Amino acid sequence: MSDVDQSPAERVKNLVRLVKDSGLYPNNPIVNSATTEPVIWVGGRDHLLFCSNNLLGLSNHPKVKEAAAKALDRYGLGSGGSRQMAANIDVHRALEQRIAEFVGQEDAICFAAGYMANVGVVPTLMKVDLLQSIAEVHLGHSSARSTGNGETPGWEIFSEELNHASIVDGVRLAQADVSKYPHKDMKHLATCLTKSKKASKFIVSDGVFSMDGDIAPIPQLADLAAAHKALLMIDDAHGVGMLGANGRGSLEHHDIPSSAVDLQMGTFTKAFGGVGGYVAGDQEIIDFLRISARTYIFSAPLPPSIAAGVAEAIDIAEREPWRREKAMENAFYFRREVEALGFDTLGSEAHIVPVLIGNELAAAEVTNQLRHRGIVAPHARYPAVALGRARIRFVMTCQHEREQIDFLLGCLAEIRDNLKLHG
Ligand code: PMP
Repeated sequence: MSDVDQSPAERVKNLVRLVKDSGLYPNNPIVNSATTEPVIWVGGRDHLLFCSNNLLGLSNHPKVKEAAAKALDRYGLGSGGSRQMAANIDVHRALEQRIAEFVGQEDAICFAAGYMANVGVVPTLMKVDLLQSIAEVHLGHSSARSTGNGETPGWEIFSEELNHASIVDGVRLAQADVSKYPHKDMKHLATCLTKSKKASKFIVSDGVFSMDGDIAPIPQLADLAAAHKALLMIDDAHGVGMLGANGRGSLEHHDIPSSAVDLQMGTFTKAFGGVGGYVAGDQEIIDFLRISARTYIFSAPLPPSIAAGVAEAIDIAEREPWRREKAMENAFYFRREVEALGFDTLGSEAHIVPVLIGNELAAAEVTNQLRHRGIVAPHARYPAVALGRARIRFVMTCQHEREQIDFLLGCLAEIRDNLKLHG
């Protein structure tokens, strides 16, 4: 039977069989303990975990759990609706104010996940012209909008090629022209901005790249945004709480003020050990998002217990810099030693340390062999990264000890030789 004779369901099933037969279907173990700890319980034995995003060890911190438990007791399990209906709860608002203060912006808006923040915020900004026209009709107020200098109305988005999937999806939903620029290539971006005829321009980039662990050239992005009157959004999911002298994120790492970017997005899933996303910026931009971001309006917010726990986690992250310092020391040590074994870490600079394997099947085999040695470290492959660029994405946290990292390095050396990974 040819492909066209098969029903859609048959085609899906056949594809899954093919992926399973080839050994590429993800074989993530079921874990019988907290996956936020460096040692986890899998299949009746301890394993070392090197892919948890609980970077500062706050997910299981007694004070964080106490704050969450108190809120659970007071508010119950869920929120009872969206923020614009029943669920505009004091703990949500307190968390928004706390994270805005932490990253140095006027205000912030929280979403149930970082993914929801990006998918909601990116296309919403492009609706400003439409909403302005509606406001003019209904409120009888006309504001001047000129598109001088031969510009055409509408938006163009300039999106970095290694941006996280949630930005990519937000961009797909936007009514705008899209130009993808090569990784950290500021010359290319400058040329695209100069060529663009669109009246409104929007640049969006990860702060720390999630699959490569390197850091975006934010000062240059800010200069280009200012020169071209473009709106600039930085997704600092991996930078907030981790980078900069006080852990404020990628902007502090580069020593530039928060005012250099219009929107700072982040997530509570990583440094702060919880769940949820936010976008911080000027008051009126945040006010605009509250009335236009569909993933905020039409979806329930974070559970109140999580909001209370995350607020406590931010306080601890601020008070205890040793946590991010140790995570970074661990990453620095692992990166140096794994490179000495001949592996390519793709220019990683932070706590995410990818080890490039390349071929997807070989990467799956490295994950399997690590697992046999009691280490859980899945590989990232297409579509998370480009085809042929599969990698093991190690994440170093403040909870890893030197002996654990040395054990991992020893295993990687053995596996390299077993699989003849270099030459
Ligand atoms: N942005 C980046 C850069 C990320 O790495 C992630 C999560 N991996 C997200 C956004 C989405 O965050 P969340 O897990 O809170 O949905």
